[in-house]
Amino acid sequence: MEKRYNIPEIETMTREDLLKYQWRLLKEQLDYTYARSGLCQRQFKAAKITPDDIKTMDDFIHKVPFNTKEDMVADQAEQPPYGTRLAVREDEIFLTYLTSGTSGKGQEVHTMTEADLERYAGVAVDTLYVWSGWKRGDKVMNPLPLGITIAAPAHYLGLMKLGCDVFNLGMYDTKTKLEYMRRFKLSGIFSTPAYLDTLTAEAEEIGINPAKDLWVRKILTAIQAYPISFVHRIEEKWNAKLFDYYGSTQWAAGGTCEKGAAQGEQRGYYHLLQHLSLHEVINPETLEPVGSGEVGELVVTPLNKKASPFLRFRSADRVRWFPYGTCDCGRPFDMLECGTITRYDDMMKIKGVNVWPEMIDEAVFTKEGTSEYQGRLYMSEDRRETAEVRIEFKKGLSEETKKALLKTISNELRDVTGIGFDVKESPEPLPHAVFKVRRWSDERVKGLEKKAIPKSG
Ligand SMILES: [Zn+2]
Repeated sequence: MEKRYNIPEIETMTREDLLKYQWRLLKEQLDYTYARSGLCQRQFKAAKITPDDIKTMDDFIHKVPFNTKEDMVADQAEQPPYGTRLAVREDEIFLTYLTSGTSGKGQEVHTMTEADLERYAGVAVDTLYVWSGWKRGDKVMNPLPLGITIAAPAHYLGLMKLGCDVFNLGMYDTKTKLEYMRRFKLSGIFSTPAYLDTLTAEAEEIGINPAKDLWVRKILTAIQAYPISFVHRIEEKWNAKLFDYYGSTQWAAGGTCEKGAAQGEQRGYYHLLQHLSLHEVINPETLEPVGSGEVGELVVTPLNKKASPFLRFRSADRVRWFPYGTCDCGRPFDMLECGTITRYDDMMKIKGVNVWPEMIDEAVFTKEGTSEYQGRLYMSEDRRETAEVRIEFKKGLSEETKKALLKTISNELRDVTGIGFDVKESPEPLPHAVFKVRRWSDERVKGLEKKAIPKSG
């Protein structure tokens, strides 16, 4: 298999050289952040340390305090809008971007200098695209609408740096995107897994067979977990290879290599960009690093970032970690299992059982006839905790098929979670998100409020 490198001198380093290089960047970033960030200075003071106490990686991961979303949001409230962690003059800010705010805990404000953006687009974005087979002259679709996030401008700039002909189709509807893909023979697309399903269903509906009528031969996805059958289905329907990456606003980044998102029944790996950021994976209870194949929380520290720097951000992303060498492509980076990342804060406690949205995704989206769903947790009239799943089916299914599918999904959900779900067809069409998908609403508290004891007096 042809090896693809974006920055060969780093991607072919020995493991030892990579760790030395990373430590040098980390030490510089530590000193820089402490010197310039008010938030960092307060945290170090509270922990009774200074950068002089951090002499080894072991010191770093055991002594440097964590940052959380709550810390960032509180820091912004103290000194709006950027917080005391803004480490450059305001006229040096080249890009301001916010987290998407889907967690309900507020949006973090982040910034980049011109050099930060160059680095992010050139190192993070380009590496992920090059590993996925993108090259100069490719005609590619960027489906992200420009907004105040990092993704759309970073993808656009990264693709232009690679020399691709970028079609920014974010503001067009799905049908128009498909028409551009056909008319200009686009060879690569980036999409979330959910939106890829939407694109596929819409293509079929308007009589486009993606494998025969389109020229897309590589697809890069991100953001969501998916069953391995999703990879097989998409690769067959599009006659394309599926690649996937993991990235975050806080500069966590890793992507699949030449091997793609899956080979047969074997999932691929996100090879972590350890020259861009320090990626730790910790047990969220003991706070110690996890071992090979274990699940933990990803903690990220961007390296060589000048505007709004921070150390050890707890992402709440639940990942499965593997050491370098687990994939035989030879890259010196540690890795995460591809397609299985979930959120610790997405976990739902239903009838006392831990349930992740991905369990429902798996039951719903492995079926040929389903296109979307929404879930709702609420207290029924007789105060029973109820988990309702409303399914949107593809057009043209018979009532009989739908009924059978509802029953199958309901049985599968009971098998994997041990609890009963109320699975029904959605009476109305459901929204299909292009980027972040939030399918669940929790109205149980609302239900409880209704039953609250009347105020006395
Ligand atoms: Zn590999």
